Amino acid sequence: MEQNKHYAGHYTSPEFSEAIKTCKGVIITCGSCEQHGHHLPLDTDNIIGTEIALRIAEKTDLLVMPPITYGQVWSAKGFPGTISLTPDTLKRLLREIICSLEAQNIANIVLMSGHNGNYPILKDLARELRDEFGWTNIWHFPLASSKELEARAKTPAAMAPHAGEAETSMLLYLKPELVHLERATKEFPLPPADYPYRPMHWNEFVETGSFGDGSAADAEYGRQLVEYAVHTTADLINQLLR
Ligand SMILES: [Zn+2]
Repeated sequence: MEQNKHYAGHYTSPEFSEAIKTCKGVIITCGSCEQHGHHLPLDTDNIIGTEIALRIAEKTDLLVMPPITYGQVWSAKGFPGTISLTPDTLKRLLREIICSLEAQNIANIVLMSGHNGNYPILKDLARELRDEFGWTNIWHFPLASSKELEARAKTPAAMAPHAGEAETSMLLYLKPELVHLERATKEFPLPPADYPYRPMHWNEFVETGSFGDGSAADAEYGRQLVEYAVHTTADLINQLLR
């Protein structure tokens, strides 16, 4: 395997020590091992999160740390292959990784998630660490998307939470060999009226685990979604991080 100069996991210890003296900091991505319908792999969020982070690193002088590939996936519990950590476990894991990085005088630590369910936990942890240690160099950025791109989708609810047109398109662009478009289903489930008001797993109202129509995906649309997320976040990082 060729060494990727934006991926810290490929550095030797002395190389890492040199690199962090001059670079802007590191990115830690938090993904998930989660069902993505019948047509996308369990690793979908890890692939999307890591690829986007590596492209952001290229434009921002950051290094990508080895990723956390399990996350908080309460909603998709009950589907084969979904492994869910409790928020406490994920927070504890991240906290110890961040403490280790802070001890090595990393300039900035950027938390990102390829999986929406992790995001509130990242934000919460950054607040806790600021209160506890006074650290102001921990950042959190969500996966950026735009209304304009949403309007370009072919099917309604393309951006719906999971394994629909948008997410399938991104994977089709990044790792087409892992997408089984012919197995994609068209499910447009309406959550029950009480869904927002009490805990409810997706398997109570979605049969295949995917929302929307993954078969409408196309790689060019996926490229636009990925590029938008990369540019928007990289621009923010370049403006905000010293
Ligand atoms: Zn996903």
